[in-house]
Amino acid sequence: TFGKFVCSKALANETEDVDGKKKVNIKRLISLSYPERFHIFIAFIMLIISSFTNIVSPYFFGSVVDSAVNYTDLTEMNKYIFYLLGIYLLGSLASGIRSWLFEVAGQRVVARLRRQVFNAIIKSDITFFDTSRTGELTSRISSDTQVLQSAVTSNLSMFARYFLQIIGSIIFMFSLEPSLSGLLIGVIPIVSLLTVQYGRYLKKLKKKFQDELAASSVVAEETISSMRTVRSFAAESKMSKEYEINIGKSFDVGKKLAVAQGGFMGFVGMISGGALALVLWYGGKLVHDKKISTGILASFLMYTLQVAMAFAFLSSVYGDFMQALGASQRIFELLDRSPLIKLNSGHVPADEDSFDGSVEFEKVNFSYPTRPQTNVLTDVSLKIEKGKTIALVGPSGGGKSTIFALIERFYDPLSGSITLGSKNLDLKSINTNWLHSKIALVSQEPVLFGGSVKENISFGLNEEIDLEQVIEASKLANAHEFIINFEKGYDTVVGERGIRLSGGQKQRIAIARALLVNPKLLLLDEATSALDSESENLVQEAIERAMKDRTVCVIAHRLSTVRNADRVIVLENGQIVEQGTHDELCSIDGIYKRLVLRQLMSKETNPIDS
Ligand code: ADP
Repeated sequence: TFGKFVCSKALANETEDVDGKKKVNIKRLISLSYPERFHIFIAFIMLIISSFTNIVSPYFFGSVVDSAVNYTDLTEMNKYIFYLLGIYLLGSLASGIRSWLFEVAGQRVVARLRRQVFNAIIKSDITFFDTSRTGELTSRISSDTQVLQSAVTSNLSMFARYFLQIIGSIIFMFSLEPSLSGLLIGVIPIVSLLTVQYGRYLKKLKKKFQDELAASSVVAEETISSMRTVRSFAAESKMSKEYEINIGKSFDVGKKLAVAQGGFMGFVGMISGGALALVLWYGGKLVHDKKISTGILASFLMYTLQVAMAFAFLSSVYGDFMQALGASQRIFELLDRSPLIKLNSGHVPADEDSFDGSVEFEKVNFSYPTRPQTNVLTDVSLKIEKGKTIALVGPSGGGKSTIFALIERFYDPLSGSITLGSKNLDLKSINTNWLHSKIALVSQEPVLFGGSVKENISFGLNEEIDLEQVIEASKLANAHEFIINFEKGYDTVVGERGIRLSGGQKQRIAIARALLVNPKLLLLDEATSALDSESENLVQEAIERAMKDRTVCVIAHRLSTVRNADRVIVLENGQIVEQGTHDELCSIDGIYKRLVLRQLMSKETNPIDS
C-alpha cells in the first residue's frame, strides 16, 4: 500500500546504518497488521478524503475572504461558505470513521499479539522459566504489546497522511503564488533534518525508559507476590527503597524525555511562528503592492500552519514507530524461541494402555541447565513396577524431586534413558501432553488457582466435568466434608482473593484433583510441614486411598509410608545408595537405618510408629 511505501522510504536511512535484521523487523512489524487489511484499507480511504479536505479548505477560506472584500453582494461569499462548510463536514466525518477503524484494527492486532506471546510463554520449557523473571514476562505481554498498538495501524497511516498533506499543501501554495512558496520551502529541509535527529534521540530515550520501567515492575511483582515473607521479615522499607531506586532510574530518563519533548515543541513553535511572520511580512508586502489578493494571503497563512503542524505530528509519529520497533524486537525474540522440549511433538501411542504406570530409569545422568557443572543425578537406574508403591527417601538435596521432574519430562537427562510401560516406550518419543494426562503430581505445597473449589479440583481435565464426579473424588480425598461446610460449597472461590485454606485442606484438594484424573502413575510428594494431628490423619487416609491399586512413586517423609511401600530407594547426592523393603534396609547398618532412627526427615514430633 501507499502507506507502506511512504514509510519504508522514510525509514530507509534508519535502516541502512544498521544490519539487515532491522529491515526484517520493520517488515515483520508492519505485517502484524496484515490480517486487519480490510479495516485499514477503508480507514485509509477515509484518511485520503480527510487529507484532501484539509488541503483544499484553505483555498476556499481565501475565496471567502476575497469575495467579502471584493463584492458588494454577499451571494458569492455565501456560496464559498457553503462549500467550506460541506468540506469541513465531509472531513470530520471521514476523520471520525478513520479514527474508529484504526483504533479497532490496532486493538485487534494487540489482542492477537498478546494471545500469541502468552501462548509462546506457556509453551516454553521449564528451563526457560528457571531463567526468566515473571515480572519481565508479564511486562512483555502487557506493556510491550501496547506500544505496538498504534504503531502498526494508525501511525503508519498518519505518516502517509502528513506526508501527503505536506506535499499537497506545497503544490497548492506554488500554484497560488510561487515566490511566497519559495520562501517557505527554504525552511523545510532544516526542519526535516532536525526532526529526524530528534526522532532518533527520542527512540533511544524511550527504549531506555521502557527497560527501566520493566526493571521496576520486576521488583513490584516479586514484592507483592511474596508479601508474607516481606512482612514477616519487616522488609517493607527495604523493598520500598529498592523500588524507589528503580523508579528513580526511569524517572531520570523521563526527565530527559520531558526536556527533549519540551525543547522540540518549543522549536516547532518557534519555526512555525517564524515562518508565519515571514509569510505575513512578505505576503503583506505583496498585498500592499497589489500583486496578490488578501484572500490568497489568508490561504497561504493557513497552508503554512498546516505544513508546520504536519511536521510536528510527523516527528512524534516517527518517534512512536521507532519505539515500537524496539518493543517488537523483544516480542519477536520471545515468539521465535523454540522450546527445548516441545509440548506437542512426539507420538500419541495408539494403544491407550501402552503405558501401564511403570517407569524405568537406565543409567540416567542429569544436571540442571542453569547449573551445568553440578551433577544432580549420577548413573541412576531404577524401576517403578506396575501397581507397586516405590518410596524415595534420603537427605534433602539428594535428587528425589529431580526424579519427579524427569518423569514429568520438565527436563531431559544428559545421558541414559527413561522408558515407560511394558513396551519400553522412550519418554522422549512420546507426546508430552498425552504423558501428562496419564500422570498426576501431588506436590508438597499444592497450588490453588483463583477459581472455585470445583474448578480447582477439575483443573487437570479439559472437558466439562459433572459435579457428581468431583464430589466422588473429594469424598475419597476426605475433602467433601469441609467443602460442603463452606457457604457456597463447591462454588466457593479459593486462592488469591478467595477463601484461604489450611495446609491440610489444600492437600486434600490436591489429592482430589489427582484422583479425578485417574492417573496411571501417581507422583506424590509427602508434606514435611507439620499439620495438626486431625488434619494429618485425614490427609494420610486420603493418601492411602489414592495409592490403592495404583502405581505410585512417593517422596516419603513419614515412616508409615515407607513401611507400606513395596520398595524403598535411598538417594544421596544424586546416587542410589540403598534399595529394598523397609525390613531389608533396616537389617543393614546403612543410611536408611540412620534416617529411620532420625525419623526420616527429623520429624521429631512424630511418634516412631505413626
Ligand atoms: P530433593 O528433592 O532430594 O531434596 P532435589 O531433586 O530438589 O532434591 O535437588 C537436587 C539438587 O538439584 C540440589 O542440589 C538442588 O540444589 C538442585 N536443584 C533442584 N532444582 C533445581 C533447579 N531448578 N535448578 C538448578 N538446580 C536445582
